[in-house]
Amino acid sequence: MARVLTLLDQVRLRIAPLSRAAPIAVGSQRGMMSLSFDDFPISAWTEGGRVMADHGVHATYYVSGSLCGQVHDDMRQFEVAHLQAVAEAGHEIGCHTFDHISALKARAAEFHASIDRNAHWVAERLDGYAMETFAYPFGDWSIGTKRSVAKRFKCARGVLRGVNNGKVDRAGLVSIGLESKSLATFDMEAVAVKAAAQGAWLVLYGHDVGDRSSPYGCSPKQLERMILAAKAAGLDILPVKDALARIH
Ligand SMILES: [Zn+2]
Repeated sequence: MARVLTLLDQVRLRIAPLSRAAPIAVGSQRGMMSLSFDDFPISAWTEGGRVMADHGVHATYYVSGSLCGQVHDDMRQFEVAHLQAVAEAGHEIGCHTFDHISALKARAAEFHASIDRNAHWVAERLDGYAMETFAYPFGDWSIGTKRSVAKRFKCARGVLRGVNNGKVDRAGLVSIGLESKSLATFDMEAVAVKAAAQGAWLVLYGHDVGDRSSPYGCSPKQLERMILAAKAAGLDILPVKDALARIH
């Protein structure tokens, strides 16, 4: 389900971080790490959930209702029973639009209708659960979308690489991919130590978890290594909404 960005879309994507929709200050609290999984492939729960349970930590699963029971990016996605098990285990469920649509390709009304539909879809399956945080599908955002998303959610995460420190945009949180395609260039231990020293908020996102993960996912060992690095550095590991509550 790829999307094609025009030159204008690419410009809108690049300039969006220059305008803060909802500034907050990160850095006066203990350093934190939030793990998140997008879409989500079944293995994010069956494999990823097992690793997190072993270490007593919780993540945020950003769900698109339309992907339930589907194959997306060649991976089998969650069924309702997985979603219910994830929530039951104490993980946060966050919104990723119902249709998994790009904020750069959809009209504003269509984008927000998809958020409404996802809210209803999740609430019907999780006993009225209200999602409080958001992740932009494909990491696509614009200045306008960030402003409107800031009004609907406590915070929103993209895929622009970085660590949240100092003055940040709660509608434009930066993150680091737990993705095998980029993990080789990422020193988990050093990033965790630096985040702890700065009192920063490290937000990670991934997709599938498996020994033979996709380029957009990671192995159980890599996930475990990140958790251990965060704990060794003294970072508190919290779902996105709980981490935000420490700041805002
Ligand atoms: Zn996604």
